Amino acid sequence: MTAPRRRSGDGPPTGSPVEELKTSGLKATLPRLKVLEVFQRTDRRHLAAEDVYKVLLAEGSDIGLATVYRVLMQFTQAGLLTRQHFESGRAVFELNEGRHHDHMVCLHCGRVQEFFDAAIEQRQRELAEQHGFELHDHALAMYGLCSDPACRGGGAGGTA
Ligand SMILES: [Zn+2]
Ligand SMILES: [Zn+2]
Repeated sequence: MTAPRRRSGDGPPTGSPVEELKTSGLKATLPRLKVLEVFQRTDRRHLAAEDVYKVLLAEGSDIGLATVYRVLMQFTQAGLLTRQHFESGRAVFELNEGRHHDHMVCLHCGRVQEFFDAAIEQRQRELAEQHGFELHDHALAMYGLCSDPACRGGGAGGTA
């Protein structure tokens, strides 16, 4: 008989870091579990390797930045995370939930805001069609300053 993947009893519920790793085919090592937990817990969906490292450090973990980076690469290859290369510099990672969205990136603090706009999506498809272009995917990133006063040159000086 074929054994079910999940054992009955005290197994973790589906969607736990352990299950997520099993599903992706990665062995559940401590660094992998810790890194995945950071993404599942955080309010910020988009994290750079340094951000993940700092969260772990604050929790007293001794997982090094190089390990964090390696785990992020493994997760990206396994499809657990997607990686965004924004022109502001650092690569940020987010949980791959399979829903298309685009991004606004603050050039001052690095904050990333997600958005989805049906009209923009539709317009892009139309443009591709007009150019006889077979569209497979797109990534739209808008760069500017977020609503945080600290990112608007607030403080000293001021606009006349
Ligand atoms: Zn900002
Ligand atoms: Zn995103």
